[in-house]
Amino acid sequence: MKINGNKEKALAVLKRRDSKLQSHLNSCVRCGLCAESCIFYLSTGEERYIPARKVDIVSSVYRRYNTLAGKLMPGLVKARELDEFTLTEMVDLLFGSCTMCGRCTAHCSIGVDISYLVSVGRSMLAEMAMVPSSLQSTVDAAIKTGNNMGIPVDELLDTLEWLEDDLRDEVDDTEAAIPVNKSNVNILYTLNPREPKFFPLSISAMAKIFYAAGESWTLSTRMYDVTNYAYYSGNLDEAREIARRLRDEMFELNARICVLAECGHGSRSFRWEGPNYLGSSYAFETITSVELISRYLKEGRIKLDSSLNTERITLHDPCNLVRSGGIFEEQRFILERAVSDFVEMNPYGYDNYCCGGGGGQLAMSEYGERRLKAGELKVKQIKNTGALTVVSPCHNCVDQLMQLNQVYRMNVKIKTLAEIVADALVLE
Ligand code: SF4
Ligand code: SF4
Repeated sequence: MKINGNKEKALAVLKRRDSKLQSHLNSCVRCGLCAESCIFYLSTGEERYIPARKVDIVSSVYRRYNTLAGKLMPGLVKARELDEFTLTEMVDLLFGSCTMCGRCTAHCSIGVDISYLVSVGRSMLAEMAMVPSSLQSTVDAAIKTGNNMGIPVDELLDTLEWLEDDLRDEVDDTEAAIPVNKSNVNILYTLNPREPKFFPLSISAMAKIFYAAGESWTLSTRMYDVTNYAYYSGNLDEAREIARRLRDEMFELNARICVLAECGHGSRSFRWEGPNYLGSSYAFETITSVELISRYLKEGRIKLDSSLNTERITLHDPCNLVRSGGIFEEQRFILERAVSDFVEMNPYGYDNYCCGGGGGQLAMSEYGERRLKAGELKVKQIKNTGALTVVSPCHNCVDQLMQLNQVYRMNVKIKTLAEIVADALVLE
């Protein structure tokens, strides 16, 4: 393997002034309690996928270059060189067998932030130019074209035009609109590029909700992509650049609230990580569409009729939204009003299993087989509920669930939360 990256810069990642990093790198007591948390270990039984192994490969490199014992007697303290052998294993463990779902962190006996250490290891690999090419090309497309699928503006506008025609027919109002690049609005609404490309119905659903709420909103053609795959690739400069563009578009349009479409990592990377990337908090409000819909219901701005959704529905909680973002009640508050037969998975909420699609896995085709195997637990959970529809407020999760549905023949429908809400909307 030819190593093109900068080893000094990769090792410098471990030296950054970050007290959390230093303490968590040195804390694992090898109790093994995290093993049963990880879908990669549980679905395969392979010990190399145990979360503590992912921690250890990063901390063993730390020991080699940052401790006296590691420098003088590396074999004695199991310290590892950052060489070709170690780097290859790091790529496989940190990119290829982790979704950064955080379930192991929640179960760790002493609170080691395992997914954070995985992200640190990924940053080292980014410095070594060893991000899997499929993931890197997704980031490159976002940097180059403004969206991770490289959708040309004309194509987006065509799609929005026919969606607007459909909306007018559906709500029987020739004034109903999907506004684009409108200034001085209340809301700038973002999209996952997967929506205009493959699943425009989720845009229609949200447009219908905005219509029912009488909202002042817009989409942007300059910057609408809610995703930030550089959060997963570990390249902080690229993550910062993507977050900066969305922040600047808020100023450009003079919008009050940035509403993040149903995307777990997109919400996390812009709302919670963005201010860290950019070195300052936002001068505007940032919320997820899940919270916005819940707010509309509480304020009486939209009304739902649960008898319009009678099939049994279960909910998949996206890890970035729930375990890492604390958004747990809102989707349940909405579903209690939007469907008549809602059933939880077991476990659910903060302890929910990852579906296997996070961490950039869906972009990394080289690990596709492993990803689908890791989703087996989710399939069992869904089957146990007897639900006919699975809803998840994250396009990445929806994508993975759709693939699991096909591979494991679950025969369920997979929907976004906005679609379920739009189906139950009562237009007055
Ligand atoms: S973050 Fe999730 S996928 Fe990664 S090691 Fe922990 S449990 Fe496994
Ligand atoms: S649970 Fe925490 S302390 Fe125990 S092996 Fe896993 S990472 Fe280490």
